[in-house]
Amino acid sequence: MRAVFASHNPHKAEQVALLLPSVELVPLDSVAPALVLEEPFDTFRENALNKARLAAQATGLPSIADDSGIEVDALGGRPGVFSARFAGENASDAENNRKLIEELKGVPDAERTCRYRCVAVLVTPDGNELVAEGTCEGRVVNEGRGDLGFGYDPHVIPEGESRTMGEIPLEEKLRFSHRGRAFRALAAMIGSE
Ligand code: IMP
Repeated sequence: MRAVFASHNPHKAEQVALLLPSVELVPLDSVAPALVLEEPFDTFRENALNKARLAAQATGLPSIADDSGIEVDALGGRPGVFSARFAGENASDAENNRKLIEELKGVPDAERTCRYRCVAVLVTPDGNELVAEGTCEGRVVNEGRGDLGFGYDPHVIPEGESRTMGEIPLEEKLRFSHRGRAFRALAAMIGSE
């Protein structure tokens, strides 16, 4: 199958290419570089479907998208769907991480639990839609370590690990990450269509 990956995030594109080896992924930037992928909803599912529907309409090709983020228990689940813009519209990863650590000031280790969540979707131009979800439990640490990831990875230690997500090589991380789980589930649904 040939499908557009509806994202301008190169880190996600690299991961999804590894997770969907049987799909020929067309970069969005090569077919619809100006397409704005809006995320106006308050659920990962609706935002992911919105991005894939926009890309399918714009390109006439099956389109794959994900929406993802981090839910921090001590912050009542924030930043959630606002993870990319936690510190403001167009905030950098460093700015978002700074805000996260600032908001968790004084919160003890045991209460710094969090999870990454990813909803992966495939939308075809004729309106077929597949939806899969994956989560990855962890905790937030003040001191950032590692440059093997993106976003909040330097500050997140997944359950059962001592390394941060930023210190774990990509292929190893995909075995248990939210995106790994979501896209393997999506691949299974595509395979059984
Ligand atoms: P979106 O899915 O494009 O709305 O962006 C999700 C945001 O959540 C990213 O910009 C990151 O801040 C964060 N995020 C999602 N997945 C990951 C991940 O695998 N590692 C680190 N941060 C992530």
